[in-house]
Amino acid sequence: MSKPSTELEPQTPAEGVLKRNNYGDAITYQVTCECHDANHDHNVWVEADDHRVTVTTYTTQKSKWWSLNRWQTIWILLTKGYVEHEANIIMTEQQALNYAETLKKAIKDVKNFKQP
Ligand SMILES: [Zn+2]
Repeated sequence: MSKPSTELEPQTPAEGVLKRNNYGDAITYQVTCECHDANHDHNVWVEADDHRVTVTTYTTQKSKWWSLNRWQTIWILLTKGYVEHEANIIMTEQQALNYAETLKKAIKDVKNFKQP
């Protein structure tokens, strides 16, 4: 029997939300699908520029995407057309909570990096 939702707390380290890179003004995560099919994983970029913070999610079927830079990733999306393929990601309640908490923290971190 799983615990009622009110008892769940965000985890550290967060299960299902893997930090992949930290460039200071950009942090990337890999959010894994509950079915363990890596093709369903989402790649998340949390970035700050001089004006704002953006959160972008990608679905690429390329492994080791996190070793690429942002523009290489975008180029792959544009040229390989992965953006045309729909992919669903299924998160457990715990993972979704971790995801939300991770985003909140990452947004704060990149913002602080830009405006110390
Ligand atoms: Zn899946």
